[in-house]
Amino acid sequence: MKIHEICFIGAGAGALMAASNLQGRDVALIDTNAKIGAKLLISGGGKCNLTNRYASEANYLGDKAFIKPILEAFDASETLKFVKAHRLSLEERSHGQIFCANSAKELVSIFGRLSAFCTFYLSTTVLHVTKKEHFIILTNKGEIHTQKLVVASGGLSYASIGASDIGFKIAEQFGHTLITPAPALVGLTLQKEQFWMKELSGIALPVALHVEGKTFCENLLFAHKGISGPCVLSGSLYWKKGNITIDFLPHIASMEALFKTHAKKQITTALGLPKRFSKAFLDANGLEDKVLSKLSSTEKTLLASLKAYTFAPAGNFGYTKAEVTRGGVSTDEIDGASMQSLKCEGLYFIGEVLDVTGELGGFNFQWAFASAMRCAKAV
Ligand SMILES: Cc1cc2nc3c(=O)[nH]c(=O)nc-3n(C[C@H](O)[C@H](O)[C@H](O)COP(=O)(O)OP(=O)(O)OC[C@H]3O[C@@H](n4cnc5c(N)ncnc54)[C@H](O)[C@@H]3O)c2cc1C
Repeated sequence: MKIHEICFIGAGAGALMAASNLQGRDVALIDTNAKIGAKLLISGGGKCNLTNRYASEANYLGDKAFIKPILEAFDASETLKFVKAHRLSLEERSHGQIFCANSAKELVSIFGRLSAFCTFYLSTTVLHVTKKEHFIILTNKGEIHTQKLVVASGGLSYASIGASDIGFKIAEQFGHTLITPAPALVGLTLQKEQFWMKELSGIALPVALHVEGKTFCENLLFAHKGISGPCVLSGSLYWKKGNITIDFLPHIASMEALFKTHAKKQITTALGLPKRFSKAFLDANGLEDKVLSKLSSTEKTLLASLKAYTFAPAGNFGYTKAEVTRGGVSTDEIDGASMQSLKCEGLYFIGEVLDVTGELGGFNFQWAFASAMRCAKAV
């Protein structure tokens, strides 16, 4: 009976980074998918936003004291050093987001080359794990045996490309606490008071979104199901229930200034927003498209609500659309120096399966890579 030295559940971002740094060891990777790095390949519109120059613990939901030293030991500059050493062409976009210049396929093929020494069990789904002298992994194709087991199975988002709750099940089985998982980096659905926004599907505009003391200044995209776009996706990480506030007029310093400077202009012209948006807002509020100087004080107050439009979303678009899963295996029971379980020797957790979730912009891959490196060094 073959007993591997180290076995990863998952052949995604975290497992591939760790395996690539375990040259010469007896390493196996198991994945439901027929190919490695499925999420890397579809991420960032096929160009994978692999890291963020400004990544720090402030960009993550989770225990910041746990996250900080792991990110500092393998930060964005280390990720860049690693991929540049393998000649990956990069492209930097706004807010420090780093993408593959050509295709995420180039990054996955780097990982493929570096992990070529590993044993791959692809198109293989892990069903259950037990531990006796070593770990016995039951899959749909039989048993795999290993001394050390690294759970790198990610979250629940995008089941269509392999996501499952196996990591959470294993954690609970070995006595770990689970922080309730929920979809994150996901669009938000609307209550009927905001249904006027549904007519605006396809329109994108820059806004400032405030949620739970955080502000995101980026594009909001109106969708059939509700609101989406980078600023909503980032905001969704922090939204649980309750209100969010959107400033639809971030280009205007104050409503008083607007009413003064553009007194002779029609509302739709003065706002400087897409006409379809302004009209839908006016219709929903029973306002006519008047010259600003003719507005009553009640009408001015209604219009001013665009500067701080506060409402409670109904919910979110769910795991099929969510880029990540918030919550997961509590980091309180993980040794941050090695990523090893404090409940079970030889069991490790890395990446998204843990209760560490980044904002939109390359932070989640950076976490997967940083936690993977921590584990690879310790394992
Ligand atoms: C559409 C989309 C776009 C994204 N874009 C970005 C981006 O541009 N930048 C960014 O930083 N983050 C992005 N993310 C998030 C990022 O992909 C994840 O946070 C990251 O991949 C997590 O890495 P991981 O190694 O923990 O898990 P994953 O990369 O998800 O790998 C886990 C692997 O485990 C396998 N697995 C799960 N269950 C089983 C089982 N029972 N048996 C066998 N195998 C199993 C899965 O098939 C999967 O391949 C995106 C996510 C999505 C869905």
